[in-house]
Amino acid sequence: MAYITLNKNNFFNNLDIIAQHTKAKDKIALVLKDNAYGHGLRVMATLAKEYGITKAVVQSCKEAQAIEEFFDYILVLADFPHSKSTSSLVRTKNETIRYTINDLEYIVKFPHATKVELKVDTGMHRNGVAISELREAFSSIKRQGLILEAVFTHHRSADELTGEWFWQNDNFKKVKEEAKKLANEFGFNELRFHSSNSAALFRHVEFDEDMARVGIAAYGCMELPEAIKVEGLKPVLSVYADKVSSRELKKSECIGYGGTYEAQENCRVSNYNFGYGDGFLRVCSNNYTNPHGTKLIGRISMDNSSFLSEEENLLIFNDACQLAKSAKTISYEVLTSLKSEILREIV
Ligand SMILES: *Cc1c(COP(=O)(O)O)cnc(C)c1O
Repeated sequence: MAYITLNKNNFFNNLDIIAQHTKAKDKIALVLKDNAYGHGLRVMATLAKEYGITKAVVQSCKEAQAIEEFFDYILVLADFPHSKSTSSLVRTKNETIRYTINDLEYIVKFPHATKVELKVDTGMHRNGVAISELREAFSSIKRQGLILEAVFTHHRSADELTGEWFWQNDNFKKVKEEAKKLANEFGFNELRFHSSNSAALFRHVEFDEDMARVGIAAYGCMELPEAIKVEGLKPVLSVYADKVSSRELKKSECIGYGGTYEAQENCRVSNYNFGYGDGFLRVCSNNYTNPHGTKLIGRISMDNSSFLSEEENLLIFNDACQLAKSAKTISYEVLTSLKSEILREIV
């Protein structure tokens, strides 16, 4: 199997840039869902703690439990305290974990005294209660005896250079005003507010929210249009593969399943232990060149891929954005495709 290296300096460099923008480390909530965007959940949590990050965001209870010891605050985006994924050994009362309310109907699923945050749909129409349902949500949360700590939203197009960002921001402003009044009326403590993922954070000229939920920027793989590009972020993750075998391919011989690459002249080729079973998107077959100019040839198979190379350890990629281009996808998919079994090592 291939191996992954995680560049600690680059990660800390990215966190420095993000912290300059949030103006405080403790306003960064590092998004660690999906095995920390393929980087490795526990190893990234360890590094984040070392840097001084105190807040994390994950998708499930299971992820939250795996990193509980590293943070003061963990927001679970879409799970319930007693879901199937939750280990029965885990304490039901937990000071660290907060749960997201994504739908009015599910408020009754949270046990009394659970800390919750209310997600409001300001235009993405994926999760969250409608702006018109705010009062009903507050009233239900009160009736259920939950501890409401924050109200938040998510932008649908913060990474695109369009006006959408502005109207969604305006919608959230209205939500904030109304939520403050409702918090007063229903007797909740002062609420916190947040709306920014990586792209949205950098579009705030003066960031003044209580925290930002930062994923891809911390991993250094943001793909933004030139006009809103953020300078200085560096990819954290690299994938290397070991050589399994080498051979000479004679002119007009073909390599791999289907023989889709034909040698134009005699050449030396090697086969490396990184395939689609490990997370190498198969759509890159015959259409990828590594950062050193080494060409991938033939189809990617389950555990193997062939390159015009004889190197013992071949760098597959050190910038997920580059591979994403050849796969016609986004860095997020390239990264989260990497299997958790691959060895990860901090360098
Ligand atoms: C994944 C996610 C984020 C992080 O997004 P990035 O673009 O990686 O910064 C923030 N908020 C929510 C609700 C998410 O699901």
